Amino acid sequence: MDLQISGKKAVVTGSTAGIGFAIASELAREGASVVINGRSQAGVDAAVARLKAAVPGALVAGCAADLSNAAGCEALFAAHPQADILVNNLGIFDPSPFEATSDSEWQRFFDTNVMSGVRVSRHYVAGMKAANWGRIVFISSESGINTPGEMVHYGMTKSAQLAVSRGLAQSCAGTGVTVNAVLPGPTRSEGVAEFFGKLAAESGIGLAEMERRFFAEGRPTSILKRMIDPSEVAALVAYVCSARAAATTGAALRVEGGIVSTIC
Ligand code: NAD
Repeated sequence: MDLQISGKKAVVTGSTAGIGFAIASELAREGASVVINGRSQAGVDAAVARLKAAVPGALVAGCAADLSNAAGCEALFAAHPQADILVNNLGIFDPSPFEATSDSEWQRFFDTNVMSGVRVSRHYVAGMKAANWGRIVFISSESGINTPGEMVHYGMTKSAQLAVSRGLAQSCAGTGVTVNAVLPGPTRSEGVAEFFGKLAAESGIGLAEMERRFFAEGRPTSILKRMIDPSEVAALVAYVCSARAAATTGAALRVEGGIVSTIC
């Protein structure tokens, strides 16, 4: 299927690793010019080089900016004032008992996971509306529906993204701009691999046993019963960003292996 996004400009936030990098790679493979974002210049430069090696001829630029604050977002807008496709992928996660999670930690999660997408979407949507074409995707999570007890503060941000995504879609009514949320399940990104490795080491078990227990005890409703590969999330996101997906908007699309057991 030709996704018909050749020549479009895509910004993918938090894309030096993990799901974001896989999305940037998939969009580049489809002929879009892609902006890779992370906090450090070295990390961005390395990711740009990695993408160029993986996708020969890819049009890739890098932007080092911390998008958890307004100044970082302004730096991105100054370097890249316009985008046809925006993927709000940036997101942090960290288990923390509810009783031990401080006000500042709640605020940090809100600023990083919610306000980054709000600020960046607010900037780019104006140009998209003027061009009568645009794609905005929020990378939420199945945790936005099934709030995890071990990280309520994270689940809150993923639910908030669903509200922002749906409302923003409605504000684009009658234009060629679509806004959707994509809800991955447990995905073997760099961040999650590190997290699982730490848990396995602490429990004195191997990684395979750690993952088996995670699906048996933590996510028993998973139909897939395995970690998702970032490329499997990226495939859905690339479709949603495509010209072919013009009639899909205001939707919350799952790529979570069936953990959420409601039908719709
Ligand atoms: P990751 O930790 O592997 O990668 C995060 C990326 O964000 C890195 O490129 C990092 O450099 C960048 N980053 C972190 N803080 C930043 C900041 N302040 N400004 C700019 N860049 C920053 O993450 P991942 O697992 O690939 O997750 C990506 C998204 O997918 C997140 O929104 C996460 O909530 C969501 N998600 C992940 C999973 C999963 O199991 N991996 C499941 C559901 C949803």
